[in-house]
Amino acid sequence: MGKFNWRALEKKWQKKWAWSKIDETDPDPRRPKYFVTAAYPYPNSPQHIGHARTYTIADVNARFHRMNGYNTLYPMGFHYTGTPLYAMAKRLSQNDREIIETFTKIYGIPAAKLDGIKEPRKMADFFRDDIKKGMVEIGFSVDWRREFTTADRLYNRFIQWHFRWLNKRGYITQGTHPVAWCPNDKNPVGVVDIQGDIEPEIGDSHIVKFEGDGTVYPTATLRPETIFGVTNIWVNPDSQYVRAQVDGEPWVISKDTVDTLEHQNHTVSVEKEIPGTDLLWKTVVNPLTKASVPILPADFVEPDNGTGLVMSVPGHAPYDYQALIEVKARYESSPEPHESLEKIQPISIIRLEGFSEFPAADIVKKFDVKGQDDPRLEDATKELYSKEFHNGVMNDNAQPYSGMSVENAREAVVRDLTSSGKMSIMYELLNKPLVCRCGAKLVVHVVDKQWFINYGEPEWKKQAHQCLDEMTILPEERRNEFNYAIDWLRERACARKVGLGTKLPWDPDWTIEALSDSVIYMAYYILAKYLNKNWLAFKKFEKDPEKLPDSFFNYIFLGGGSSESVARETGISKRILEAIRKEFNHFYPVDMRHSGKDLVSNHLSFYIFHNTALFAENQWPKGIVANGFVLMEGEKMSKSLENIVPLRQAVAKFGADPLRLGVLATAELNQDTDFSPALATTIQERLVNLIQQSRKLGRKRTGRATYSILDRWMLSRLNASVQSATAAMERLRVREVVNIVLYHLENDAAWYQRRLGPKKAKGDARNHVLRQVFDLKSRILAPLAPHVAEEMWAALGNKGLVAKAEWPKPNDKLADRIAEASESMIKDTLEDTSEILKATGLTPKRITYFVAGPWKWQIYQKALNVAVQSQTDQGSFIRDVMSEPELRSIGKPAADFASKAIRQATQMKEELRKSRVGLELKEMKILEDAMDFFSREFKAEIQVGQEGEKRVSDPKDRARSAEPYRPAIFIE
Ligand SMILES: [Zn+2]
Repeated sequence: MGKFNWRALEKKWQKKWAWSKIDETDPDPRRPKYFVTAAYPYPNSPQHIGHARTYTIADVNARFHRMNGYNTLYPMGFHYTGTPLYAMAKRLSQNDREIIETFTKIYGIPAAKLDGIKEPRKMADFFRDDIKKGMVEIGFSVDWRREFTTADRLYNRFIQWHFRWLNKRGYITQGTHPVAWCPNDKNPVGVVDIQGDIEPEIGDSHIVKFEGDGTVYPTATLRPETIFGVTNIWVNPDSQYVRAQVDGEPWVISKDTVDTLEHQNHTVSVEKEIPGTDLLWKTVVNPLTKASVPILPADFVEPDNGTGLVMSVPGHAPYDYQALIEVKARYESSPEPHESLEKIQPISIIRLEGFSEFPAADIVKKFDVKGQDDPRLEDATKELYSKEFHNGVMNDNAQPYSGMSVENAREAVVRDLTSSGKMSIMYELLNKPLVCRCGAKLVVHVVDKQWFINYGEPEWKKQAHQCLDEMTILPEERRNEFNYAIDWLRERACARKVGLGTKLPWDPDWTIEALSDSVIYMAYYILAKYLNKNWLAFKKFEKDPEKLPDSFFNYIFLGGGSSESVARETGISKRILEAIRKEFNHFYPVDMRHSGKDLVSNHLSFYIFHNTALFAENQWPKGIVANGFVLMEGEKMSKSLENIVPLRQAVAKFGADPLRLGVLATAELNQDTDFSPALATTIQERLVNLIQQSRKLGRKRTGRATYSILDRWMLSRLNASVQSATAAMERLRVREVVNIVLYHLENDAAWYQRRLGPKKAKGDARNHVLRQVFDLKSRILAPLAPHVAEEMWAALGNKGLVAKAEWPKPNDKLADRIAEASESMIKDTLEDTSEILKATGLTPKRITYFVAGPWKWQIYQKALNVAVQSQTDQGSFIRDVMSEPELRSIGKPAADFASKAIRQATQMKEELRKSRVGLELKEMKILEDAMDFFSREFKAEIQVGQEGEKRVSDPKDRARSAEPYRPAIFIE
C-alpha cells in the first residue's frame, strides 16, 4: 500500500457536500428541527488540536441528528469583542517575545506577516480566516451562510437591545463593588483575561484596629470573633512598614498595603518608612477587651497579605500557636526586655466538643507540624476553622458573647466593632496570585459606578434553576456544578473601559465585556442569514445601526408588536420580517449547546440566565454538553512543553478523519482525552483498511442467498452493534461508538471471514452478508469519520451521500440466540483445542470432538431452570434429578454431572444463563459444519462423535467428559 492520500479524499467529499448543501439548513415544517451550537472561537490565535474536541463532538451530534431525520442547524460565528483579542494585539504591537515566538515557532506564521496583524481588527480577520479554513478542512458541517462576528455593527445593535431589555427587567445595577483588577490595563478582569483561565474569587476580611500611642495598628482577619483570644500581634521583622494617614487616621501598615488600600477607595498618604524590627516589643491595646498586648516577630506573616500585621490567637489558630512556641524558644536565653514572653499563654475562648481548651495545640500535635513553614499548618488551619465555625460555642472568656455559636458571635462582633469605628472591611483575592494575560499581578479594586449584571436577583435565579432542571446535561455528573454556579453567582461587572465591543446604550463610556455579549448570540444566527444576503433593506442600517429600532428585535425574537408596524417603522418588508420571525420560531431554542468543562461556572451558566431572561419559556435552552480537554501524549498542552500542534497542521499530517477519531477515541465526555501521533497512525490504518475492504466488495450486487447459521451469527452481531451504537450516540458517548465500529464489529467480521476460509463455496452468502456489514459500518461511521464513510458508501455502489442516508435501525428479526450460542461454542472449542496442543506440544494428525449425550443436556437444562428461579439447594437438585427413572438408570455419572451442572448454572453470569435457558444446541450438526474450519486451523483430520454412541472410536474413553457447550477433545 502506498501512502494514502487523505487530502484528495477530503477535498473530493467536501466538494460534494458543498455541492449538495448538506449543511445549509432552512426551516422545514415537515421535519422536527435540531439546533446545535458550539462556543464560537476567539480569533486571537490559530486553533490547535485542543480546540478540535468540542467542535468535533458538536459536528458528530449534528450529523447524527441529520441522519435521524432532523432538520439540523449547526452554525458558527466569531467572537471579536472583549479583551482577549485586544490584549493579544497589544502584546504583539509591543513586540512581546513570547507572543512572537508562539506565532512563528508553534503556529508557523511567517514573521513578515506579523506587522500586518498588530491592530486588533486585522488580527481577528487574519485568524478568523485561518480558523474557518481549518473547520472546513476537518469536515465540520457548518452552515456558513450564518457567519457573523461580534464586531459587526448590527450585532452591536442587537447587544444594545439585549442590554436595554435586561435593564428594563431590573437585572442591571450600578454601584461600588470590589472587582478583580489589572493595574496595568486599569480595568476589571474576568476568567477570559486571566492566565490559566481562572475565575477570580473575592472575599472580605475584617480590619481590627488595635491602638498604641495614638496610632492605629490594623490587623486583617477572617475570624473577628477570636479577638477575645488575642495574646499579641505578629509582624514580619524582615518586611518594610510605613506610617501613613489613612482616611485621616494615622496607621502603621506594611508597605504593600498602601497600594491595596488605594485600590479599595481609601486615601493614603505615607509619612515615613519603618523597618519591621522597629515595631517589635511595642504594646498595643485590644479595641474590645482593652488588654495591652505586645508586637512580636513571626516569619509566616506576608507583607502583601492583609495589612502585614496579624492578630495572634494561639488558643485557636494553629499558625499562631506554632509561632508562639518558636518565638519563646528563640528568646528563652536572651535577657531583657523579653521576660514578658514567659507570661504569654494561649487564651481559650471557644468550646469545641472532642478538643481540649486549646484546640490549636491539639491539632498542631495531630498534624505533627514541624515549624511555621510546614505546609501541614494550612490543612490543620482549614480543619480547625471549619470545625469551630460549625460546632464551636463561645465560652466565658468571650463576654458578653459567651454561649453564642461562633457563627452568631462573628456577626455580633462585626456589628459592634463596626458601629464603634474600630473595624472596617478589606477585600482580598482568595485564590491569588492571579496574573492578567498582559503579565500584571491582579489586585482587588473598588470601582465607583461600575455596571453589574445582578445574577443574585432571586426571581432570576429561580428561573435559571427551573430551566436547568428541565435540561439535558451531558455528562449528567456536571449538573451539580451548574446548580452550585447558579446559586453562587452574584453581581458581576459587565462593562470595561477598554477593548472592542458594544457600548453600553445608556452610558457609552463603557464597553460591554466578553462574557456578557456572548450569551444569546445563538438567536442571532437566524437573523445573520438574512443580513448576509446584503439586501438593500438592511444596507441603510449597517451604515447607521442606531436607526434600527428596538421594535425590530422585539418582533423578531419576542413576537412583540406586529409585522405591519415594524415594516412601517423600518422600511423592511412585512414578508421578510415575518420570514425571519417564523425561522426564529422554527429553530429556537438551542437543542444542544457544546462547550468545554471550564465554562460551566461562567459562560454556560450565564447562557442559562440570559436565555430565561429574554425568551419565552418554550424557547429556553434544552441541553448542554460540557466535555473534558485534550491531552497530548498524557500531558496538558502548553507552550512551555512545546507540545501544541496547530489544528490545520494536524489535519494535513494525520488526515481529517484520523484526527477526529483521535480526539474522540480515548475518553468519554467527562474525562480528558489523550491524543498521540501513534494513536492517529493506528486509526489511519484501520480506516484505510475499511476503504479497501469496501472497494473489494465493490458495486456488484449479489442475488438472493440462503443464510447458514454462521451468516445468521454475523447479522445478529451486526444488529447488536447497531443497538449499542445508537444508545451510546444518543448520550454522545462517542468513544463507545468508535470502539464498536472500529474494534468490536471489526473483530466480529474478522472472525466471520476466518470461519468461512479463503475459498468461496457455491451458494456462499458471504458477500451478501459482508455488504450488509459494511453498509452499516459506513452509516455508523458517517457522523464520526465522514470522509471515509462516504468513500466506503460509494465503493459499495450506493447512490447519494451517506451524510444524507438514514441512521440504521435495530432489527429484532436479526437477533439470533441460537446462532450466537453455537458460534460461542465453536470459539471455546477452538481455544480449548489450541491450549491442549500448546500444553502437550503435539502435532495432531486427527482430532475427534465428542458432544455430550442427550441425558446431560436434559440435566443441564434443568439446572439452568432451577438457577434462573434462584433455587440453588444442591442436594435437593440432585435428588430431583435422580427421581426421574430414566436418569436414575444412568446411576452415579448422572448424580455427578447433576452436582457439577447446578454449580455451573448458579455461578454463571446472569446474562449468559438467560441466553442459554431453554436452548438446546444441535452440537453434532454445528461441529460437523465446522469440520473444514477446524481442519484448516489445525491442519489435521477432524471427526465428530457423540457420547454414548459407538460410531466413532474412542480408545481412551474421552466421550465421558463431554458437557453441553464443551465437547470432549481427543487428539491423535
Ligand atoms: Zn492586564
